[in-house]
Amino acid sequence: MAGVPDSFQRLWTPYRMAYIKAGQDQVTGEDDCPFCRGPQREDAESLIVHRGRTAFVVLNLFPYNSGHLLVCPYRHVPNYTDITDEETAEIAALTQQSMRVLRQVARPTGFNLGMNQGVSGGAGIAAHLHQHVVPRWGGDGNFFPIIAQTKAIPATLGDVRESLAAAWPAC
Ligand SMILES: [Zn+2]
Repeated sequence: MAGVPDSFQRLWTPYRMAYIKAGQDQVTGEDDCPFCRGPQREDAESLIVHRGRTAFVVLNLFPYNSGHLLVCPYRHVPNYTDITDEETAEIAALTQQSMRVLRQVARPTGFNLGMNQGVSGGAGIAAHLHQHVVPRWGGDGNFFPIIAQTKAIPATLGDVRESLAAAWPAC
């Protein structure tokens, strides 16, 4: 999912997410699923922060906020009710660890956690379950214009991934 060039600006504002998601809704099988293909590549290329046994943590390529992480099972399943007890426990543990790492690296003052289920539930990639971990700062609406520069975001995502991956074992 990393390094895919596109013609539109990197967008950080939630109200424009509908436009971005239009392209992601076309994901149907494992072959065109970024959450299945990502782990097959190098961490830096896929923006993977940590690999667990049954699930992994990856930076969202289309973040709501800087440091927006996704916790995904390796298996290509759409629903929270599809995952095993082991996957459920590991996704929960990785979500907690993601919060700890983000706190250490970026000092957010709040978080949004959640899973959107199905296209009707707002899932960008409905075919593959993913838990959002979004760090929040007071007044972070004002943060967006600073980083919303065309071309600057891929490098920024790479830097963010490195910082989070480096901090992961210590948290
Ligand atoms: Zn998948």
